[in-house]
Amino acid sequence: MSDLALHGGRPVRPALLPYGRQALTDDDVQAVLGVLRSDWLTTGPQVEAFERALARAVDAPHVVAVTSGTAALHAAMFAAGIGQDDEVIVPAITFAASANAVVYQGGRPVFADVRADTLNVDPADVAAKMSPRTRAIVAVDFAGQPADLDALGAMARERGALLVEDAAHALGAESRGRRVGALADLTTFSFHPVKHVTTGEGGAVATADAALAARLRRFRNHGLETSPAERHARGDAYSPMVDLGYNYRLSDVQCALGASQLARLEPILKRRAEIAHRYQAELAHLPGLTLPAVAPDVRHAWHLFTALLDLPRLTADRRTILAALRAENIGATVHYVPVYWHPYYEARGYRRGACPRAEWAFERLLTLPLFPAMSEGDVEDVVRAVQKVLGHYAR
Ligand SMILES: *Cc1c(COP(=O)(O)O)cnc(C)c1O
Repeated sequence: MSDLALHGGRPVRPALLPYGRQALTDDDVQAVLGVLRSDWLTTGPQVEAFERALARAVDAPHVVAVTSGTAALHAAMFAAGIGQDDEVIVPAITFAASANAVVYQGGRPVFADVRADTLNVDPADVAAKMSPRTRAIVAVDFAGQPADLDALGAMARERGALLVEDAAHALGAESRGRRVGALADLTTFSFHPVKHVTTGEGGAVATADAALAARLRRFRNHGLETSPAERHARGDAYSPMVDLGYNYRLSDVQCALGASQLARLEPILKRRAEIAHRYQAELAHLPGLTLPAVAPDVRHAWHLFTALLDLPRLTADRRTILAALRAENIGATVHYVPVYWHPYYEARGYRRGACPRAEWAFERLLTLPLFPAMSEGDVEDVVRAVQKVLGHYAR
């Protein structure tokens, strides 16, 4: 007889614990209310203040705020000059947006395999996938751990390509004491509610290159040469449109929320690391589970806590184990299906088998709940549920 909730037993907790969620304070609410009562709702002083605060936080001279992490990737691809038939290397294990941004510009994503230990992109496979058409490499800091940016940056420079870092998971992360934001030609962030800091929806691109920053600013504002603030200051309505841009402007309302949240980045990173370290201590030796490696020279931002199932030691597959955890009211999930397995990419000729380690990992990957507002009791529930479910399916 099984006492798994999946089989009708009593769940570890009465209500679902999601894998991630935002934490808003009264200060955040007050900051937004203040803007709602002010003269500016969009593209005003709050956007500039948020961009300045973010630039300090990620140690980058220029930050351009946009409407989402996806818009940030699109803007980065535009700034990098990606166009028709250009190839861009993208890790196989990431959110689809990392690759879609290449397609928006008419380019072709070429998927590179991941390392089995960290699930970050494997520089050796990136090297193998590069061609004379490669114009950029996208590095994704999977789960919040910086990718091998030194190696990837050197490979990009050698070919005259740019390194674009999708740091949606990695706000506040560091590699060899240097902040994510100061390590790639263009670094993108997301402020979706599950990420470290939220603006509801939002994103940003960081760069040290003033010319790239100018392209990013035009791109988010229809390709117009001057910003709304510049036109307002000059009292001049005309601005020449020099690029085909979009309206990707983040509003003052959203930036006020972002700046208020960003002020708490350090405690947020600290609490995420505490929870991750507790999972590591309690789950590292559990039969049936392998935890990803963390390099000694990084500060991990712990957006996600992922684990790999050791399938030969278990009598169930990942799908069943995920269902069993969810029945225990633990909102475990999966990040990510290999991007080229999505029907859109399959329909465009991408074939399974291209990145064997990514596909191997996908069959085994689990993401456990991790967000700063989790209580010690919540963490305990996750540990007990994982022990209960893996214990049940132990071979
Ligand atoms: C969240 C995320 C994005 C997209 O960000 P949005 O703000 O949701 O558009 C892109 N890449 C990765 C790796 C992400 O986790």
